[in-house]
Amino acid sequence: MKKITEILADTAYVRTGGSGEELRCAEYIAAQCEAMGLAASMEPFELPMYTVTEVSLTVNGRSIPCKGLYNTGSGRVMGELYYLTNTDACSMAKCRNKIVLVDALGPKRYRDLVAGGALGVITYNGDVNHPHRDIDQREVRELTAEESRIPGVIINAKDAVALAEGGMAEILLSQETAAGCSHNVMVDLPGEAEEMILFSAHYDSTSLSQGAYDNMSGCIAQLYLAEYFAAMPRHYGIRFLWCGAEERGLLGSKAYCAAHDLSKLVLNINLDMLGCIMGKFTAFATCNEKAKHYLECVAAEEGFGLESKFGIRSSDSNSFADQGVPAISFVRYAPATAAPIHNRYDTAAVMSEERLLGDIGFIAAFTRRLVGAKQFPLDREIPPSIREELDAYFRRRS
Ligand SMILES: [Zn+2]
Repeated sequence: MKKITEILADTAYVRTGGSGEELRCAEYIAAQCEAMGLAASMEPFELPMYTVTEVSLTVNGRSIPCKGLYNTGSGRVMGELYYLTNTDACSMAKCRNKIVLVDALGPKRYRDLVAGGALGVITYNGDVNHPHRDIDQREVRELTAEESRIPGVIINAKDAVALAEGGMAEILLSQETAAGCSHNVMVDLPGEAEEMILFSAHYDSTSLSQGAYDNMSGCIAQLYLAEYFAAMPRHYGIRFLWCGAEERGLLGSKAYCAAHDLSKLVLNINLDMLGCIMGKFTAFATCNEKAKHYLECVAAEEGFGLESKFGIRSSDSNSFADQGVPAISFVRYAPATAAPIHNRYDTAAVMSEERLLGDIGFIAAFTRRLVGAKQFPLDREIPPSIREELDAYFRRRS
């Protein structure tokens, strides 16, 4: 197996879901598996891809650098600029016939703005204290082709601050949608029993990020764990899944769940963000409380610092738990001041080889017990409180 630093150097490029660079990374991971004698398969799945052909934002006659917000409407709109600070009924009512600036924009807010008669929407990202004016490319997820749309653009936080006072704005946006393709990479280590543990880690990144921490770290952990468990007798089987397009809405894990029989999965172990220099190691038990206590017991036995939480976390583990597969998601959470993600600062510079090897060592020790178990010690149960969290996360009405 290559050294961690080598793999991080080999994959130090942006790889958004559905892009050619994402495919290049999938092929790279498959090649690392093949190099250790493990057959890797690549499963393609479809996802929408957007192309912006024309975009501009003008405020008070001044052109503001922007990107088109994917999956919003095309067209030219002009109107008064209104900064929506709150979402109470009074504030929302002021959006009619305005171009609305918002701090954050998800599908719900976008639909509310469309329904409330807004002409266009501006959102922003980046950091007012960073020296540059990066704009992270985003999309409004989940909108169907039939839904009404208004044009949306993304600007940098520094420009957003300057626009908060208002003025007259004009948005011009043309964009097209086409079907694209991403891939899940898979390696199987069968056991004596039919049941298996499914590991997952996403390998895609956001638009400006090399994704060393989020989440080549989890991908590397899976490569090392595959090598480790391949050489070990197994009662329960293990499947390793490197998921595509997680950052675009858990698309790889959702595609996997739609295409496979999940009835033989006893547990999903999800690895998303490990091995950074700074940060607290945390396990999310997205299953019953027994698993939370079990994690704490094993951590104590191993002398490994761990915080165990009962609940969900925004990552591929939610897709599995939503389908009734108990999940545990491991993360070493760095403070955003030390290792921020989804921007140009997520590089090998925030990573520690020694720390990542320590994290992998604990996950190996934890999994070794399960793989060798005579009877699987954890229950195949999603309790009601987790069910509620999942329903809220996937924006369903109960
Ligand atoms: Zn991630």
